[in-house]
Amino acid sequence: MPAGKHKSRSLRRVQTKIPSGKTVQRYEKRNPSKAKCGECGAELSGIPRGRPHEMQNMAKTKKRPERPYGGYLCTQCARKKIIAEHRV
Ligand SMILES: [Zn+2]
Repeated sequence: MPAGKHKSRSLRRVQTKIPSGKTVQRYEKRNPSKAKCGECGAELSGIPRGRPHEMQNMAKTKKRPERPYGGYLCTQCARKKIIAEHRV
């Protein structure tokens, strides 16, 4: 029977193989939700989901696309915004 704090599903259950060959259940914190577009709310692609310490050790170029509005707007919204900016 799992300990009381492990009965809640707020921690995810991970099956991990330990050096002796046994498989044990470990409890890990869940990843944050996916990044959303600031205009339409669509899920952004090319942005990893990770715990803060994983994101901290990741290169900036791996955390968001290298284009204007990368990591903030989806491709369609970024395209519309850039076109609108140049029409003025
Ligand atoms: Zn969008």
